[in-house]
Amino acid sequence: MYTDQINIAETHWDVLVIGAGNAGLCAAITAAEAGCSVLVLDSAPRDMRGGNTRHTRNLRAQHDAPTDVLTESYSLDEYYDDLLRVTKGVTNESLAKMTLEKSAELTGWLGARGVRFQPALTGTLNLGRTNAFFLGGGRAMLNSLCRHAEGLGVVFRYDTEVSAMNLDDGFCEGVTLGDNTEVTATKVIATAGGFEANLDWLAEGWGDAAQNFLVRGTPYNKGVVLRSLLDQGIKPVGDVDQCHAVAIDARAPKYDGGISSRIDGVPFGVVVNKHAKRFYDEGEDFWPKRYAIWGRLVAAQPDQIGYVIVDKIGAGRFMPSVFTPISDDTLEGLAGLLDLDPQTLGQTVDEFNAACPPAPIDQSILDGKATSGLNPEKTNWAAPIAVPPFYGFPLRPGITFTYMGVAVNDKAQILMADGTPSPNLFAAGEIMAGNILGQGYLAGIGMTIGGVFGRLAGGSAARMLNKGTGE
Ligand SMILES: Cc1cc2nc3c(=O)[nH]c(=O)nc-3n(C[C@H](O)[C@H](O)[C@H](O)COP(=O)(O)OP(=O)(O)OC[C@H]3O[C@@H](n4cnc5c(N)ncnc54)[C@H](O)[C@@H]3O)c2cc1C
Repeated sequence: MYTDQINIAETHWDVLVIGAGNAGLCAAITAAEAGCSVLVLDSAPRDMRGGNTRHTRNLRAQHDAPTDVLTESYSLDEYYDDLLRVTKGVTNESLAKMTLEKSAELTGWLGARGVRFQPALTGTLNLGRTNAFFLGGGRAMLNSLCRHAEGLGVVFRYDTEVSAMNLDDGFCEGVTLGDNTEVTATKVIATAGGFEANLDWLAEGWGDAAQNFLVRGTPYNKGVVLRSLLDQGIKPVGDVDQCHAVAIDARAPKYDGGISSRIDGVPFGVVVNKHAKRFYDEGEDFWPKRYAIWGRLVAAQPDQIGYVIVDKIGAGRFMPSVFTPISDDTLEGLAGLLDLDPQTLGQTVDEFNAACPPAPIDQSILDGKATSGLNPEKTNWAAPIAVPPFYGFPLRPGITFTYMGVAVNDKAQILMADGTPSPNLFAAGEIMAGNILGQGYLAGIGMTIGGVFGRLAGGSAARMLNKGTGE
């Protein structure tokens, strides 16, 4: 029988996986390889499958020596130090260490299932040593995993939203679909992403500002599964306003704009708010270490809008965004095009220029070329904005994914409010990322968390079903 002829509601599945992104596919494949019957449900249509995973480029992996896809070494200690620095210690130490340790296996595991890697791309985020890049990006990676999963007999249903998780004291009896049918399985793995596409839920943490957020990824991660779990006594983890958010071009679409709308020009000019005033040190640190704070910074400004202003020289220092910059030969003209007060913008830039140190700047190092006498100062790469044409990029907060999720243990079992594990519920990926990421972000760790916990969830489910697993 073709798999699309199977009546999924009349079949009792060993393992039900909710969400066909990286985490869900790693879980489904692991369970299927152990001999489980596996159904994967995804609310997106087939051509939009793979949630936020479609947009990814790489994953961060520990390695003690160069591998076929990673250069030099990236020790466990260094990785853990990096994580502690960005999260400021808000992480579950034992789960975090386990995740980083297991990250070492991921490229080999994925490679054996058809995923191909490529040398790191050059650009502003220099990650060649620490991160393995997917050849063809996240979509190609997903297609390989889907093909492998289908070959193992995993059944996929797209356009199929899980609207409720049917729990009885932490035991999942099944799930209800959008059309009110029920699907049952012995083990259920929640990999349905965060709630970043649910602006009303985001408003619980951000207030009305959330309506001005642009969602960089899938419109389908609305947190329906997460909400249903939390409403039924599952232990939450993480704060509602913690997320990964970057500054993206305000002209990007509301959903699914992906990586190309990111604006990398911040360190090479000034950023002003709608009152044409600067509000933060644009040169605080190298951009790969700072890009993920600018979403929050812009979100805190009036009407959640900002503008990067650079001149001809600055514009040559970063990778352009997909949108054509707004430009004019005079600052006054640019201010008019950006709807900023020309006088105030002129004054902001004049003051900035007057506070800049002698040229030149060196963008390859933290050059300490700082302004003096401004509030806030720009502490590196401060060069006058003086050579026309002048360029402006409007900025909005672009939310990548949320961190509030369900608490899990080291077998990827979902925990009840009192800390006891559910007998048959597991989670992986964004929906539990807050166990590792209390705040902050380390580029590439989203896919690492999903890969490690996806494999754990699929392996734990299979083991509890007494199915053979090498995991
Ligand atoms: C633009 C962008 C670039 C990124 N780049 C990187 C990168 O290079 N490296 C990195 O590590 N991370 C990156 N991330 C983060 C990364 O995408 C996520 O951490 C990772 O993909 C999460 O995987 P997941 O399987 O948990 O969720 P997803 O891949 O989002 O999959 C969740 C799936 O669940 C489905 N779903 C949701 N609700 C339901 C429901 N109720 N019923 C059924 N199905 C449902 C969705 O349709 C979706 O297919 C990026 C994110 C974005 C947006």
